[in-house]
Amino acid sequence: MRDSSGLSSTGSPLLFTFRQIADSLIDLFFPPRCVGCGARGSLLCDRCQASLPSVEPIRDPRSAITERRATADFEGVSQQAIHRLKYENQPRLAVPLGLRLAAELRRSGWIPSLITAAPLHEARLRQRGYNQSAWCRQEIER
Ligand SMILES: [Zn+2]
Repeated sequence: MRDSSGLSSTGSPLLFTFRQIADSLIDLFFPPRCVGCGARGSLLCDRCQASLPSVEPIRDPRSAITERRATADFEGVSQQAIHRLKYENQPRLAVPLGLRLAAELRRSGWIPSLITAAPLHEARLRQRGYNQSAWCRQEIER
């Protein structure tokens, strides 16, 4: 049974951990390459992450969501990473992207009242097999 965020069967922490272990074993034989520059060793290298310009928070006191945060504009390396995460079956990119969000929260000192994954339509969840935003959220919660 799945909910709209995909946090049950395909987004469970146990499955996520199992997949991380399997991915680590695969990395021994096929080291990951950076989505931005192709360097070996990580899916999104430190140099490419550092090249992403910071983004100012979006504040709107009249909105139900009064403040929103992002770690990069949706372009270049960040766009490539998100596309691979969403459309090229590379859920491991949720780790560096979620860690970026967690680092931004720590850096800013902002304490959100809610961290939620964007819901995914059930048909899309069935097709993709995971909700990428739910996995990013898991990295933030660690
Ligand atoms: Zn890189």
